[in-house]
Amino acid sequence: MLDQKTIDELKTALEKERDLLTKELETIATPDPNLPGDWDIKHEEWEENEITSEKELESGVNVNEVDEDMKNKALSDHLELRLKEVNDALKRIEDKTYGICQVCQKEIPLERLKANPAASTDIEHSPKEHGI
Ligand SMILES: [Zn+2]
Repeated sequence: MLDQKTIDELKTALEKERDLLTKELETIATPDPNLPGDWDIKHEEWEENEITSEKELESGVNVNEVDEDMKNKALSDHLELRLKEVNDALKRIEDKTYGICQVCQKEIPLERLKANPAASTDIEHSPKEHGI
């Protein structure tokens, strides 16, 4: 079993990552008020440009805007997913189920938790990991 001190350390790391992810998400997206945990990327620039889109489309200017939008969407999806993992891990700490593999219910090795405090499974049962 994990001792309280280790759990506290991992919890601090998770909270730090959560704040960082939230800050990063806030620069490209806004929280969806109807769907907690879901974020909508900001479209301001894109909407502004839509007014003159026809002319800009010819010159290719808007293509870059679309690229930028898609990049932000991909980034926001990635951050959102990671944030969910971090929040799930924090919830498991509260529920006292932290550090247990969600698949086989065995303890997750401490080394793995230190490398990725949001890990929800041991290495054997790890789905493809995001980020770390
Ligand atoms: Zn397992």
